[in-house]
Amino acid sequence: MRSERDQNFRIETAGGSGFIFKVANVDESSDVIDFQLGALRHIARMAPALPVPRVVKSGRGRDFDTVRFSNGCSHDVYLLTCLDGMLLSDTGVCADSATRRNIGQLLANIDLALRSYFHPAAMQEHPWNFETCPRLRHLTQHIESVEARAEVDEIFEHMSDIVIPRLQSLRHQVIHQDAHTDNILVDPDDPTRITGLIDFGDLLYGTLVAEIAVACDSIPYGGSDIAPAAAEIVASFDSVLALEEEEVELIFDLVCARNALTATIAAARIALTPEQPVHIQSPLAFVDNLRELQRVGRKGFTRRLRTACRFPAYCPKTPHESLSEGEEARLVDARRSLMGRNTTHFYERPMHFERARGPWLYSTDGHRYLDCYNNVPQVGHCHPHVVRAIARQAAALNTNTRYLYSSALEYADRLTSKLAPHLSACIFVNSGSEANDVAWQMAKLITGNSGAVIMEDAYHGVTDVIRQFSPGRPETKLPAFLKGLIVPDPYRGPFREDDPALLQKYAADGDRAIAELETSGHGVAAFMIDSALCSSGVPDVPDGYMRAIEKKIRAAGGLMICDEVQSGFGRMGQWWGHEHHGVRADIVTMGKPVGNGHPLGVVVTTQEYLNRFMDKSRLFSTFGGNTVACAAGNAVLDVIEQEKLVERSKNVGNYLRSEIMKLAAKHMLIGNVRGHGMVTGLEFVTDRAERSPATAATARLVELMRQEHVLVGSEGRDANVLKLRPSLVFEREHVDVFVESLDRSLDAL
Ligand code: PMP
Repeated sequence: MRSERDQNFRIETAGGSGFIFKVANVDESSDVIDFQLGALRHIARMAPALPVPRVVKSGRGRDFDTVRFSNGCSHDVYLLTCLDGMLLSDTGVCADSATRRNIGQLLANIDLALRSYFHPAAMQEHPWNFETCPRLRHLTQHIESVEARAEVDEIFEHMSDIVIPRLQSLRHQVIHQDAHTDNILVDPDDPTRITGLIDFGDLLYGTLVAEIAVACDSIPYGGSDIAPAAAEIVASFDSVLALEEEEVELIFDLVCARNALTATIAAARIALTPEQPVHIQSPLAFVDNLRELQRVGRKGFTRRLRTACRFPAYCPKTPHESLSEGEEARLVDARRSLMGRNTTHFYERPMHFERARGPWLYSTDGHRYLDCYNNVPQVGHCHPHVVRAIARQAAALNTNTRYLYSSALEYADRLTSKLAPHLSACIFVNSGSEANDVAWQMAKLITGNSGAVIMEDAYHGVTDVIRQFSPGRPETKLPAFLKGLIVPDPYRGPFREDDPALLQKYAADGDRAIAELETSGHGVAAFMIDSALCSSGVPDVPDGYMRAIEKKIRAAGGLMICDEVQSGFGRMGQWWGHEHHGVRADIVTMGKPVGNGHPLGVVVTTQEYLNRFMDKSRLFSTFGGNTVACAAGNAVLDVIEQEKLVERSKNVGNYLRSEIMKLAAKHMLIGNVRGHGMVTGLEFVTDRAERSPATAATARLVELMRQEHVLVGSEGRDANVLKLRPSLVFEREHVDVFVESLDRSLDAL
């Protein structure tokens, strides 16, 4: 049988079984044969269904024996079983999609079986080892075409400088590393069915992804584009043995390197050993492959592989690689037509993010941005513990609360244990809006009343009714069943901090609202309140104000719906915002940070209220409290507890405000700094005595901070307050970055 290095003989027994008798090359060390046969034995043990040859022991009970031949040479000989099927190269058909997918899966299964295998000979020097390929550089001189030689040299250089250092940190194991059409057997009646992988002669300890790169390079794609064909092999490998992002990033370079290596080795063999049979044809064919690869380009090739494996969109790592303005404009247009012309973005020019971690968002401009705005990733963007919990649960079960499963109960138990003892029962939904909607339905049912009190510029969400609870601006006309309270803002409200009766004056507005609801016949079902008063610009609510309003609400028969979407989970330096104000909540609603970005909303109330409500409403939310959402919720609680984030929120928040206060000595624009824990309102005024809102300057500042790579947003009725709600994983060093950027931005105004 044909072979490059060994002599192979096919043996048929009288009983019809087939074997391959192998006489190893005289230069082959016994160690290497032991390594290769050991791998076959290992695969047979770990994954007996995989179609690789079996080792047949010799009469002396050995895997191989050394035999002295009549020419005086000693060779190792051994016997393998013969697999059914014909070589893919002999089928005369080009591998199609199904074949490529089956090859990818088979290689992944082989590598899974091999990952627990090792042998000292696995570390032998190997001419096809990507990580040592620059050692063959001296052989490129045998490539006759100067142009082609330069192209190959360039690949080796890139391998040395860029790729090999990156490869070295990737997963390594023993791999087959030679999946080409002469080593793959298929069913002659159905060439898509792989019946065997043979020839373990190039087995080595190398980077796992080399296995795929060799296959991508060696399986012909029939003249079409290489990228989609490679994507099929990569995605099918990934479906069995998940690839890492960095591995996928390097496949293009490895396929190029494989062609550079092949061209070099072929040219050297032709030049140095012309008497030997030629196994690899013209070196120039591989240079042509290289040119084709360069035509497709690393970016396009890799994007194709990433999409096939469903990796998220690529995010450039350096400004040098940033998206072109044309690409950005295309996205903006697509967004307008696919998502409507009114989809807004925060900045004059939209920010484009494809990646985030901890307190940082990574933009496609190649820069990282300190996120001082987004309060959903409470425990930091993409916290690995939360990410893993979501992925693991999604891989096991994703279903709804019509079934019994432990994670929802574990979560409900843990969550309620963080609240006052009477708040002990949960309804799971998907968002803050939905939670508030349910809370409102519940309050009406429990009290029999139909009116509510809110802040005059509140925001509570987007359902039909809750949209009405979200006037946003004080002058918005409310429906008759809603009454808005004057925002208790001692800095710029109608009653200021120097007024000794300020608390009573603000609280008296509660009497007005309640009286109006009673007069109109609605009565008071609830006071819905965001304890951080975020949409009002985080004012410094006078101590005792909330308790005073609570008293009045209760006297009118209403319930306290404490909306913890903004203020909960440690945001205000303690677990719950309503506890900061010292009020008793009847219903607590949660959203945003609950799942750190995974949709999850919760309504927590008393057993009695919940049961009365459920008896009547029979509410069921398909996704609410699904297993994956509960996994996210549990993991968020783990992180807050383990990383002591409530405490950190308090300390780092105090540090943030004290550092901003230092800037106030220098920048007259800073009028007021307030907040608790990691929610801060930073109010800008054009005149400190008049307290006139610096609306235009605040808008400009948001843009200048963007140029500093810091994300902030404005809030308040005059949009002159910076609303700062960084994640609770912020450290002092992040505060320092923010404060220095703010200083420079204020200077630049
Ligand atoms: N309540 C408050 C206090 C909020 O700030 C928000 C969202 N900004 C909501 C409710 C609504 O939450 P969601 O967007 O998840 O529906």
